[in-house]
Amino acid sequence: MTSTDQQPFLSIRDLKVHFSTEDGVVKAVDGLSFDLARGKTLGIVGESGSGKSVTNLTILGLHDRDRTAIDGQILLDGNDLLSANERELERLRGNKMSMIFQDALASLSPYHTTGKQISETYRKHTGASKKESRQRAIEMLRRVGIPQPDIRVDDYPHQFSGGMRQRAMIAMALVCDPELLIADEPTTALDVTVQAQIMDLLKDLQQEFGTAIIFITHDLGVIADIADDVLVMYGGRCVEHGTKNGVLRAPQHPYTWGLLGSMPSLEGPVDVPLSPIPGSPPSLLNPPSGCSFHPRCAFTEKVRSGLCAAERPPLETAESHGAACHLTADQRRDFFADHAAPRSH
Ligand code: ADP
Ligand code: MG
Repeated sequence: MTSTDQQPFLSIRDLKVHFSTEDGVVKAVDGLSFDLARGKTLGIVGESGSGKSVTNLTILGLHDRDRTAIDGQILLDGNDLLSANERELERLRGNKMSMIFQDALASLSPYHTTGKQISETYRKHTGASKKESRQRAIEMLRRVGIPQPDIRVDDYPHQFSGGMRQRAMIAMALVCDPELLIADEPTTALDVTVQAQIMDLLKDLQQEFGTAIIFITHDLGVIADIADDVLVMYGGRCVEHGTKNGVLRAPQHPYTWGLLGSMPSLEGPVDVPLSPIPGSPPSLLNPPSGCSFHPRCAFTEKVRSGLCAAERPPLETAESHGAACHLTADQRRDFFADHAAPRSH
């Protein structure tokens, strides 16, 4: 066995991404660690501004480099991404890793046909001929469900519907068989029917290609549909991490309880009123002391006086499911049962 066989496919350790701004240092990501195995899907969930996109742009090396301090380690199949230069990253983006975004219009060029953009990506990474690359583009468009791909290959992005553009972007992201696909809220702008089709497409392609996927969303219903594991981000940190069933059925962190409480029931009729989590996300310039969720948490008085404000709880990583919270495991079990009670109609 080589050393890379023992390594998880993607391994992130204590990642910090801090931006210097006029107002001070924005700690967008502040000590994040996780692993992802080949062929598996990690769902990253959290409110807007929790550091999801910054984390994933940093993996791809597409983050804003100006006045940015990055610390920690990102290993992708043994490649150290944080010390890779732009040329190495360029080579890895495409073959090893690629990304689909919420806004396909912004990531496709309006000046070239969709087919050209897909075939050029392929040509650049494989050195295939123009003719082969065009065939490959048509084949990818067919795979993502674009009708008459041999004709649509010559269309410009604006000639496609929103759902088709999203499919075309997926075709472009997958044309070089990347081993890691990062999907950053790729279906948020789409209607539910198209969203369901895109999710099915991603699952099929993952089956076919064995792609590892990081799926970023603020929608726990989407997580329930696609993820193997779930990571809950709050204020640039992981507050809970575990298997999908663990996190969705036996959540351990009061923030996750809040997220679950603010979405319609995952099963059955949607008859529970939505209850957004009171308060607002933490400042990343001046994060709260201790547990950054404590100003919004309804359970701080259950913990030894002042502890939540004084000490940052460590993320328990001994088990396959852990949370960063000062409540004891017994307390969490009891409180979650109470919290969940009104929902079990
Ligand atoms: P989300 O979880 O919604 O994807 P982001 O990762 O986009 O959140 O952003 C996390 C935080 O980092 C936000 O507060 C955002 O304003 C801040 N941020 C992102 N990029 C920069 C930058 N280049 N300079 C300063 N702050 C930034
Ligand atoms: Mg984002």
